[in-house]
Amino acid sequence: MTETNELSHVHQLGDIVGPANVLTGDDAAPAMIDTRTKFHGQSFAVVRPGSTNEVAAVVAWCSDNDVCIVTQGGNTGLSGGGQLNEPRPSIVLSLVRMNRIEDVDPEGWTMTVQAGVTIEAMQEAAAAVDRKFAPDWGARGSATIGGGIATDAGGNNVVRYGNMRDQLLGLEAVLADGQVWNGLRAIRKDSSGYDMKHLFIGSEGTLGVITRAVVKLFPATDHEQSALASLRHLDDLMDVFALANEVAPDSITAFELMAETGVARVCEVFDLTHPMAERSDFYVLVKLANTQPVTDQLAEFLSVGAERGHITDAAIASTAEQEGRLWTIREEIPPMNLYPHQSKGLKMDTAVPIAKMGEYHDAVRAIAAELVPDAVAYGFGHVGDGNLHMMVLPLADEDVDEFLDVRDELVRRIDQATFALGGTLSAEHGVGRELTERVNPQKSEVEWNMMRTIKAAFDPEDRFNPGALLPPA
Ligand SMILES: Cc1cc2nc3c(=O)[nH]c(=O)nc-3n(C[C@H](O)[C@H](O)[C@H](O)COP(=O)(O)OP(=O)(O)OC[C@H]3O[C@@H](n4cnc5c(N)ncnc54)[C@H](O)[C@@H]3O)c2cc1C
Repeated sequence: MTETNELSHVHQLGDIVGPANVLTGDDAAPAMIDTRTKFHGQSFAVVRPGSTNEVAAVVAWCSDNDVCIVTQGGNTGLSGGGQLNEPRPSIVLSLVRMNRIEDVDPEGWTMTVQAGVTIEAMQEAAAAVDRKFAPDWGARGSATIGGGIATDAGGNNVVRYGNMRDQLLGLEAVLADGQVWNGLRAIRKDSSGYDMKHLFIGSEGTLGVITRAVVKLFPATDHEQSALASLRHLDDLMDVFALANEVAPDSITAFELMAETGVARVCEVFDLTHPMAERSDFYVLVKLANTQPVTDQLAEFLSVGAERGHITDAAIASTAEQEGRLWTIREEIPPMNLYPHQSKGLKMDTAVPIAKMGEYHDAVRAIAAELVPDAVAYGFGHVGDGNLHMMVLPLADEDVDEFLDVRDELVRRIDQATFALGGTLSAEHGVGRELTERVNPQKSEVEWNMMRTIKAAFDPEDRFNPGALLPPA
């Protein structure tokens, strides 16, 4: 695109959303790089509409001018789905200005929001009327509901409340020709045909722009308490999970695994006191939450776990500060702030059948030990729902080249192990641009072709986020 064309485009887009809401150059730069600093976009502008009508007008303008669109919410995605780098001209359509909570209905147990509202703002709005909006993860302050729906995000509370797909009642989206589909229904049962909202969940901006949503609310859990428990061995993981469900079936909301390698690194980098006097290779961070006190359930869980020999030590959070400290460790354990070469390494978002979690962990560690013995390999994740993030990262400057030399083989072997266990490469972060090639063997050609048919029906010109999610045909 020539410079004159670009200026003219920027001017015309400014006529739709206001000139101050079309960012270029340095102002647009933060949107052109992902949170892991791994993917770089080349869009000529960031356009920030303030309403569904403005989104529709921008999309229609893009259709008339053959401009591609990558939608962004908080730009916290971890699979490179928000950065578009292709020969056709493109814009980033940022929904950050669409941050209005339109309705909170405690009697109907629903909330209606624009797509740019953050997860944290929704949690706070629900709490203000004694209700709970259940999704929760580390990026809650920036990640938006639109991005959460588009990636079918999960997080800490899935074990009790399900992932984003389980939260959504209604949706509004702008389609490729600029039409607005209003499916903002607040009903819980509706068997009147294809449920179109489900197509947009996990669509990663490839089918349209999500502009508004109606979500479910749950009873507020005024009593919440967490404990960090040392596992005798990773093989005890499923017994300890079964115990938590036996002792506190109505209260368990989070069941997170953390390897000592990651816990120790967080404590070192963030200058925190390690929560355990005696170290173990693995810990589970368990959170119980209920309308009734949960202290007795938590104590019983830990004492029975100790009696049965699965739990060797525990740190119970008795104050809000202690609770915060345990969760800081969990939220800082992803490698972004821990290891300087993290963007060169592998960060897996795997789910396997829950009973095969230990097998998957050991397989990755064994492959890493064989191919990159100097790399750091550790796991953490929402193991209560079968989701384990394994990291394999070069540690020192001088390890990087050697790591990159065998990276493809490492990926091939680990992916093979995942598929052999019946797992997925993308449990909750989406496919983005990171996994488009790798995810291919996970589904049959029949299934990919069903998805390509849907994509072609919604977006025949491949204008929405081209190159993301679908493997090349
Ligand atoms: C520290 C940290 C912790 C995290 N922990 C978790 C976790 O525990 N569980 C989990 O599931 N995820 C986790 N994530 C990743 C999670 O997927 C993202 O935080 C979130 O889903 C993306 O929201 P976003 O608004 O930032 O979307 P973006 O990053 O802006 O976009 C992500 C994708 O969604 C598309 N998209 C965004 N908005 C829209 C829209 N309105 N309409 C259509 N498409 C849209 C984009 O095109 C892109 O493909 C974490 C991320 C970070 C940085």
